[in-house]
Amino acid sequence: MKLNIKAFRYLSSEDWRVLQAVETGTKSHEVVPTSIIISLSGLRTGANTVNKAISALAKANLIAKEKNMKYDGYRLTYGGLDYLAMHAHSRSNAIIHLGSQMGIGKESDIYLVTTPRPSTPSTSTSAPLTPEQAILKLHRLGRTSFRQLRTLRSYHGSRTQKLSWQYLSRLSAQKEYAAMQALHAAGLPVPRPVNWNRHAVVMSLVPGTPLRAVPLGAFGPADTAAQRAQRDARIAALYAELMELALKLADVGVIHGDFNEFNILIQHVPEAAEEGMDNRASEFPERVMTPWVIDFPQITSLDHPNAPQYFDRDVQCIKDFFEKRYHYVADDGGPTFEEARRRLATATETRGAARRIDVQIEAAGFSRKMAKELGGYYDEASKEEEGEEPEVFLPPEDDEDKEQSNPEAGGHNGGDENGFQSLIIHNDQEVTLPSQEEP
Ligand code: ADP
Ligand code: MG
Repeated sequence: MKLNIKAFRYLSSEDWRVLQAVETGTKSHEVVPTSIIISLSGLRTGANTVNKAISALAKANLIAKEKNMKYDGYRLTYGGLDYLAMHAHSRSNAIIHLGSQMGIGKESDIYLVTTPRPSTPSTSTSAPLTPEQAILKLHRLGRTSFRQLRTLRSYHGSRTQKLSWQYLSRLSAQKEYAAMQALHAAGLPVPRPVNWNRHAVVMSLVPGTPLRAVPLGAFGPADTAAQRAQRDARIAALYAELMELALKLADVGVIHGDFNEFNILIQHVPEAAEEGMDNRASEFPERVMTPWVIDFPQITSLDHPNAPQYFDRDVQCIKDFFEKRYHYVADDGGPTFEEARRRLATATETRGAARRIDVQIEAAGFSRKMAKELGGYYDEASKEEEGEEPEVFLPPEDDEDKEQSNPEAGGHNGGDENGFQSLIIHNDQEVTLPSQEEP
């Protein structure tokens, strides 16, 4: 596996064990003391080996030395978390090659990777594998939110809970993977999930560009009245299909929660038809664009108390974008939450509740407690986006710039001898959320 992270190939098996020990220790200690690292690593060779590994890991910025009130110790950095996740994906053969960084999302880093895919659908392990381009999404919660805020305020008296960004990033990845598995199995136009480990999800590469980047002209020329009519019909068809997509999600019990021009990828129909991927064309005969949906950490049950708001917000996002970009305003107001509920009721009657994606996400191990923890984060983040004062504040964090400006850290401009971009290393930061036990 070719990796662009400088130190990845040079870590010894002892180094990996010590890195893992720091991660395990983080579950019980905010700062993990060296004695705990030694015992958790289970290395019989003893303290010397562990200390050597600790300095190698610290030098590569995979762990960081910290003091707390009583002792010195170490914590896992985002870089360390990245390494552990990449290591796991590499060992399970989900990733055989790490390519270049494709983008920086609002709350993620996106990389092109190569994954081996059985060339014939077969359960046999000896089926030949074809390398295929895929996407690695490293979840990075806390990157854009709560950024400017520098004071810590606790809520609900003493009943506050500290959740680290790393923990929330793992939750986000776990939920995204579970949702994608269920949506993909239900035949919705989403990437094929390949694997999930920690905060890192591997999925198929969708052959499309974000709707955000699709200009009016992409719907065809508009020189004659007939062309203009055709172009308008195509825009209307895409709009109708996106609204229908929101309702198809309602059929299976969920709301996307972040349904917008960045999370809808558009594929041109001629290409789709060529690849035999477009089985939806007959539903919307005028359309030249096939929409795909990505980015599922905010997916929400239709039974959630805020579901009406979330559904309306998703619909409104698309309406606003179509009006602004394509000067298109539909005759009707778009689907309402009541309509979404009716669709769910009908679908449940005919196909049973087992098809519900919200039920399947929970059954896959993403518990209600986890959902509340992650939901609390997104609610606060969206308040900040809307300019409201969020209830949660970030504790002062002053060492992040230090870490990023360290040339050993493989920062923003890093690249290895193969010309691959190095991973961007981020610090873990603490966020305090209201206790989830509150009514
Ligand atoms: P974020 O939560 O940070 O918004 P996204 O899942 O939306 O992350 O991914 C960010 C960007 O990366 C997307 O807008 C899209 O351009 C690209 N991207 C993500 N996943 C895929 C995929 N499976 N196929 C193609 N492009 C993708
Ligand atoms: Mg997105």
